[in-house]
Amino acid sequence: MRYSSYFIPTKKEVPADAEIISHQLMIRAGMIRKLTSGIYTYLPVGLKSIRKVENIVREEMNRAGAIEVLMPAVQPAELWQESGRWEYYGRELLRFKDRHDRDACMGPTHEEVITDLVRKEIHSYKQMPINLYQIQTKFRDEIRPRFGIMRGREFIMKDAYSFDVDEAGANRSYEAMYEAYERIFQRCGLKFRAVEADSGTIGGSYSHEFMVLADSGEDQIVNCAACSYAANLERAEVKEDANVTPPDSSEFMDMERVETPDQRTIDEVTRFLNVTSQNLVKTLIYVIDEEPVAVLVRGDHELNEAKLKNALNAQSVEMASERTVEETTGAPMGFAGPVGLKIKVLADDAVKTMANFVVGGNEKDLHLKNVNLERDFKVAVFGDLRTIAQGDPCPRCGGAMSFGRGIEVGHVFKLGVKYSEAMKALFLNEQGKELPMIMGCYGIGIGRTVAAAIEQNHDENGIVFPIPVAPFEVSILPLQMHNDDVVKAAVKIYEGLMKNGIDALLDDRDERAGVKFNDADLLGIPVRITVGSRGLKNGEVEVKLRPEAESFTVPLDKAATAIQDTVKKLYDSLK
Ligand code: ATP
Ligand code: MG
Repeated sequence: MRYSSYFIPTKKEVPADAEIISHQLMIRAGMIRKLTSGIYTYLPVGLKSIRKVENIVREEMNRAGAIEVLMPAVQPAELWQESGRWEYYGRELLRFKDRHDRDACMGPTHEEVITDLVRKEIHSYKQMPINLYQIQTKFRDEIRPRFGIMRGREFIMKDAYSFDVDEAGANRSYEAMYEAYERIFQRCGLKFRAVEADSGTIGGSYSHEFMVLADSGEDQIVNCAACSYAANLERAEVKEDANVTPPDSSEFMDMERVETPDQRTIDEVTRFLNVTSQNLVKTLIYVIDEEPVAVLVRGDHELNEAKLKNALNAQSVEMASERTVEETTGAPMGFAGPVGLKIKVLADDAVKTMANFVVGGNEKDLHLKNVNLERDFKVAVFGDLRTIAQGDPCPRCGGAMSFGRGIEVGHVFKLGVKYSEAMKALFLNEQGKELPMIMGCYGIGIGRTVAAAIEQNHDENGIVFPIPVAPFEVSILPLQMHNDDVVKAAVKIYEGLMKNGIDALLDDRDERAGVKFNDADLLGIPVRITVGSRGLKNGEVEVKLRPEAESFTVPLDKAATAIQDTVKKLYDSLK
């Protein structure tokens, strides 16, 4: 591409509404422009990066045996009513009516549409397994669109859906996608980790998220250095330290009532009573499937609502209202405790090892000291109900866990029969028996992957693209546009590269050298060739790799081949 006849509107100023570096750089490098909240136009260089990621994804999907289709963006409400999601998907689903007053929505994901297609076309085990995918625009009316195309409302996703005859087959399909994802993100040059995750609204039983490691990531992840355990922080299992044993009742002291006027929060109570939060038990009142229950966690621990929901196999988990708290405990908020409570009491496993602790007294301005399990109250169910914290051991091997942040670029789910049962996607097995298909679904955010690559690879001068995601592989900068020899040499290299399939940008603008250098750096083009009158006198041009400070020279007549080698090496390093 010749820069002078192309469209790369770069900017010097940092856009005021761009919080994270990838968003700032994508605007500054002329990759994207905002139309309205969460909705962007991809400008030529942005689109080129997007297409490069799409091609890697497409190659790996095809290699893994998935077959490409393209489904509609607009979906009829009936399908969503059949799956049950019309009711509970919430406001992220953009709904509207057509001219005939029929309800419809913009597809945020395509389980319904693909299940409808497959149930109509596939009826026998002989036609399975099958995995269909598309690369398509999704719409989600995100509550807080931000970070540019990282969390947009309209965005490009690759979504694949597998249909198998049995559990073993479904596991194989899942594995194949998991491995394809590893190859995709490896080929994109990203540092990433697959972590165990929760299944969220899409439902299903099992999933992994592919996280690009970056401090600005919205997701918190934990991983063990000793074994391979890695999980989303929300989902990470907690196994209490086996060396800490339950207390002996001989250590129990007499329970005491202590007045704590207006002391409600953990901070207030610990300071007032001069105890640590590890010595206090929080009593949280919840309404679970309409029944009030009390949940106990150690003062310094965080209750995890997803775990609570799973532990009770509950449909709904909500914090109790102030009124319910008063009705069930007899005291205003801030003074709930398990002693004498009439409702069911659940407790996190860590509470088992505590002795002589502080709890609320179920009376205004009252707490109890030296409270002990069994002697003073009973717990109906113990379990892993809290979120993992710094210092907790690895649930698999007991090793030390490290905490970090990540950007979720891909997600693989085992869906099971959730959609095939609800929507009757049935097939006849070898014995002629009718069964629901076993499904999996697998998404990758294409735009988010480009943004994540920038988030992980940039410096003070701009983007430092891994070559597979870069809009151009090579930039050629003729420094003096009025010197014929310089221009001729640059064009010769450019044409030589293009002929050999190297994606090059010839900066033929009549601009100062500084402007060209700055733009090449901002765009993050991995290999830069500078053609200047001084070098040409020695028959040389200069080559510089974007992440490196030093450049090297190559003879003009060997430039095209030398650069081809350099480009190949950059790709090979990511295999
Ligand atoms: P998140 O937790 O970030 O909202 P999600 O769990 O809702 O993601 P999935 O439904 O699993 O996402 O979608 C598959 C992939 O689509 C995600 O892994 C992510 O890469 C991408 N994606 C999801 N929401 C957005 C968005 N609003 N903008 C850009 N990409 C997105
Ligand atoms: Mg989401």
